[in-house]
Amino acid sequence: MTFTDLKLCAPLEKAVHNAGYVTPTPIQQQAIPVVMTGQDVFGIAQTGTGKTAAFGLPILHRLFNEGPVKFGPRVLILAPTRELAIQINENIMTYAKGMRIRTVVLLGGVSIRPQIDQIRRGVDIVIATPGRLLDVIEHRALRLDRVHTLVLDEADRMLDMGFMPSIKQIIKLVPEQRQTLFFSATLPSEIRSLANTILTNPVNVSVTPEKPTTEKVDQRLYFVERDHKRALLAHLLKEDLEGSVLVFTRTKRGADRVVRDLEKVGMRVASIHGDKSQTARQRALQDFKNGRMRVLVATDIAARGIDISSLPYVVNYDVPESPETYVHRIGRTGRAGNVGVALTLATPEDRSQLRDIEKLIKMRIPAVRDHPFE
Ligand code: AMP
Repeated sequence: MTFTDLKLCAPLEKAVHNAGYVTPTPIQQQAIPVVMTGQDVFGIAQTGTGKTAAFGLPILHRLFNEGPVKFGPRVLILAPTRELAIQINENIMTYAKGMRIRTVVLLGGVSIRPQIDQIRRGVDIVIATPGRLLDVIEHRALRLDRVHTLVLDEADRMLDMGFMPSIKQIIKLVPEQRQTLFFSATLPSEIRSLANTILTNPVNVSVTPEKPTTEKVDQRLYFVERDHKRALLAHLLKEDLEGSVLVFTRTKRGADRVVRDLEKVGMRVASIHGDKSQTARQRALQDFKNGRMRVLVATDIAARGIDISSLPYVVNYDVPESPETYVHRIGRTGRAGNVGVALTLATPEDRSQLRDIEKLIKMRIPAVRDHPFE
């Protein structure tokens, strides 16, 4: 199948071509024709499968065919994190080049005024995190009664982050007659029941990654005493690892500490976590993506949904609380056919967490022997 077979409108076909896409990804092949018929979709897909275009392209196709309208928004896209919302908007703007489609991103952590002003100038697509969307609605700056397409992206993460009550409130504000596209990476029971209440005769689409993350990533374990972790990290960054490195810590405090420790030994690093302003986070992410900063220190929440296509290294400075988080973290590397390396620093206190991780991934993580801080 090629993009031509999907019969997207001319500007979209051109935009897709300019973006360098040749073949639709499996989720796109399944979802785009279904969305174009107007049916609801229940999609099981991870980030990195091309799911943004899977819903973005057919939505833009519909808006293009409808032509400009005075009152919007016609489309509402909900996402769990600021980073993901911004990323969705960036993708949509790329695809919508040459079409007169207006998007607004509504995120917490930045001033609400400019967002409200932007809405006043007219909007077709709103991309929002649930909390800020409700704030804006409370300011009477936005109504959702013209929304004909609702997208929930990474629904399971929205659930994890406690957005369920907000989502239920938002659902009440959009028309019942609408198309709903629902995406989740996992299927806990709450997600099934949410999907059941908001979808009408959905078509199921799903993709499983061609190979499990754990097979695409070269995993290594460094046993180290807690007091030697910082020295080991500095050593790894300076001597062993070449290219971009994403370092995970468990807490915001921990992230700040790692940044300070690395700066003390003369390294410049970027960091993102929940206490940083939105502008600071965006800048850090940009610097890291374009290679100006080789090292990015992040907490799990801040790193969710971030799409960095070729990341050679992930370092777990702290062993994560949950085994699932470990898999999420190391999945940041080894994407798009590249081999990735994930290093985990483990102290004697981490033993039981490690056991849980190894149980989940059904393998032992090979330990590196004879490192200078063993
Ligand atoms: P997503 O899963 O939406 O976050 O997309 C992951 C990455 O794949 C993004 O960088 C997209 O630009 C890219 N992408 C999406 N669809 C295609 C395609 N059909 N061909 C090549 N790259 C794509």
